[in-house]
Amino acid sequence: MKISIDPKAGFCSGVKRAISLAEEELQRSGHLFCLGQVVHNEQEENRLTNLGLEIIDQDDFRKLQNAVVLIRAHGEPPETYEIAVKNNIRLIDGTCPIVIKLQKKIRKSFIENYEAGGQIVIFGKKNHPEVLGLSGQTDNLAIIVEEENDLTKIDFSQPVSLFAQTTKSKEAFNEISSKIRLNMEQEAISERTEFCSTDSTCRQVTGRDQNLRNFANENDIVIFVGGKKSSNGHYLFEIVKSENSNAFYVDSPEKIVKSWFDGAEQIGVTGATSTPGWLLNEVAANIEKLILTA
Ligand code: SF4
Repeated sequence: MKISIDPKAGFCSGVKRAISLAEEELQRSGHLFCLGQVVHNEQEENRLTNLGLEIIDQDDFRKLQNAVVLIRAHGEPPETYEIAVKNNIRLIDGTCPIVIKLQKKIRKSFIENYEAGGQIVIFGKKNHPEVLGLSGQTDNLAIIVEEENDLTKIDFSQPVSLFAQTTKSKEAFNEISSKIRLNMEQEAISERTEFCSTDSTCRQVTGRDQNLRNFANENDIVIFVGGKKSSNGHYLFEIVKSENSNAFYVDSPEKIVKSWFDGAEQIGVTGATSTPGWLLNEVAANIEKLILTA
């Protein structure tokens, strides 16, 4: 029996950067507030909490004064930065550079097109922090499309600029984009009614698709390690599951069940972009321990 850890698994660059910014400040001062969970991974969050990271929500943030607060990789709407100035809060901005670029693009498109009837459409999960940050660039006037039913909110006779939450699947984005295009072709009053579709899904997530498919096929059983709330984790797990039905999603080494490995020769351990490398190692070690005690 062989256990392999997926060499492509682990944090994406955005999450790595936010964590190292947090670690730097924690090493310096021993305490740091973070607006929301820094990663959708409980174990990594516990590690950082033990170093002095304190997670706060929006209500806490509004009441805070003269403090230092980390903005996580998902980013924040402009209002957060305004509150920080007002309340003398020093922000350590861990917003992923890819998300910052997207926020700027959306803001530009909003300024250029909204007055003339243009609609900004964001394909993403309603109330996901990244989507709230993106929608904030449009003064919260963007139309959020989470599923096909939400397309009814769009006026297809008017221009549309479409963007995606970075962790959405490329295929799902293309599907939504095609549906909007088709509706616009049918309903547009003028041939010049513009549709601008920007595929802003992150290559560090979508680029993992093929590697994960290969990894899923190379192993008899795949253990996928991800946080319960990680949308990236659930998206990547679906890919694994579509290639290998013998795949299990766990958030900690303790959730591993011995009987899963009956008859398996090749065991693969992989994870979400928010899963730390040390946790993948712990899961692999726990599997080994379970098997050895068989
Ligand atoms: S998934 Fe991509 S966009 Fe999102 S934080 Fe990671 S690197 Fe940045």
